[in-house]
Amino acid sequence: SARIKDRHAALADSLLPSGPLKHFVGGEWITGSGDNTFESINPTTGEALVRVYEGTKEDIDRAVNAAWEAYEQRWAGATPAERQQVLHMLADRLEARAEDFARLEVLDNGKPIIEAREDIELAVDHLRYFAGAARNIEGKTVPNGELHVQTRREPYGVVGQIVPWNFPLLLAIWKLAPALAAGNTVVLKPAEQTPASLLTYMREVEDMLPDGVVNVVTGSGPATGAPLVSHERVPKVAFTGSTEVGQGVMKAAANTISDITLELGGKSPLIVAPDAAPTDAAEIAVDAMFFNSGECCSAGTRLFVHESSADEFVDAFLDAIGQLRMGDPLNEATDIGPQVSRTEVEKTLHYIGLARDSDADILRGGGTAEEGILAEGCFVEPTVIADIDADNTVATQEIFGPVEVLLEWDDYDEMVARANNVDYGLAAGVVTDDLSFAHRIAADIKAGNIWVNTFNRLPAGQPFGGYKQSGIGREGAMETLWEYTQTKSITMDLGENQ
Ligand code: NAD
Repeated sequence: SARIKDRHAALADSLLPSGPLKHFVGGEWITGSGDNTFESINPTTGEALVRVYEGTKEDIDRAVNAAWEAYEQRWAGATPAERQQVLHMLADRLEARAEDFARLEVLDNGKPIIEAREDIELAVDHLRYFAGAARNIEGKTVPNGELHVQTRREPYGVVGQIVPWNFPLLLAIWKLAPALAAGNTVVLKPAEQTPASLLTYMREVEDMLPDGVVNVVTGSGPATGAPLVSHERVPKVAFTGSTEVGQGVMKAAANTISDITLELGGKSPLIVAPDAAPTDAAEIAVDAMFFNSGECCSAGTRLFVHESSADEFVDAFLDAIGQLRMGDPLNEATDIGPQVSRTEVEKTLHYIGLARDSDADILRGGGTAEEGILAEGCFVEPTVIADIDADNTVATQEIFGPVEVLLEWDDYDEMVARANNVDYGLAAGVVTDDLSFAHRIAADIKAGNIWVNTFNRLPAGQPFGGYKQSGIGREGAMETLWEYTQTKSITMDLGENQ
């Protein structure tokens, strides 16, 4: 345990400065108007990782002003080729230090290093995807007799962006890349639990970004996020986080009629068809649920298993979970790291407690890990709950920890109705070799993303977003460029002799 702490502390010393990390505004590193700082905790060791400033309304004002100035004086006039070049340089810098950034994510978030590397690789690819997309922002012409209509897609100007802690740098890049490609400038607030990787990345790329094009202000939701999303000079807000906070963001946007993109929570079903081979299905189900230690908005948290193969499947599923290695996320062999914070551990345990109170079966897990370093870190055992009513809170609300709810099905229509009977509609998956079954599920499930014989895959170019209360808008694809631009129509009278 002491050895793991020393290893984490030594790595933190090599990657982060000793003093507090400052806000990045208008191309400068500033402490901001308030003196308040807070610590981001390493959830593996329970020790402080880094200290950051809590941004105030005044800091947000300053960042929004810097972003408008950069927009008007520099970025709005940049050609698509110039924007493309900047995005390529941002990608190259990230790629050149990929391992450092992956390690920073491990220290701040607790995710296993093998998964953190995938985050960074995907972030690099998104930067390159949107570098290309920057050259594809075009309007159209609409001939209409003597009227000639032409459209332009124009940026909003300044975009406000808020990201959560589960994929800290990847989700920041998901937001920054399309906004910059479309010609906007940005004020972004990272999650208070995980500010280290983005601020370090800004330090890495500050020389290649015109001052004020990207501004990062750290702080809590109420103190720093709220003044950003309600700002009267921020005409576009993009938010990823919980549905509850998303509702507040939407209300704030109503005051200024700002455009919004919301990527919110989920309670996604994974449906195992009668023909699915139990061991293959179990492998996909484990990945769907326990990827990123269960802290994934699209996680397959409701597992619908067909009655005919339920016994065999459950054995294979529990076996596969038994092979997951929980431990120091810096180890190459670790599959499950800690949850991001003590608060998240308590939240997850609360839901497991509700399941116990409802006399559900806890087939596996159900508690925190109790030995050595694991007791000091934020570890929750991979947990499987069975024998629970489909309308129980545990089976309908997002838990956001490593907790699977196992449900059996027999009749197709009834299963689809149950799968759809939640407020969320982010994602769903199906395991089958029956093409017709896969297509029926893909059409019948009300969700923005359907995975067939895989799960949680998000290649650049795949539009990602939610139905119902899982959100508004799509990220990661060409559609996203349209979310960061508005259409202007220019209608010209060609006269009688056209
Ligand atoms: P959260 O909503 O509490 O916080 C998310 C972000 O919003 C943080 O940066 C936080 O500081 C900020 N925030 C909080 N209150 C705010 C306010 N009043 N005004 C402005 N900003 C505010 O969510 P969380 O618990 O940190 O993150 C987990 C949630 O995010 C889950 O519900 C998960 O499903 C969701 N999520 C969704 C996606 C997606 O793409 N759909 C991706 C990742 C996470």
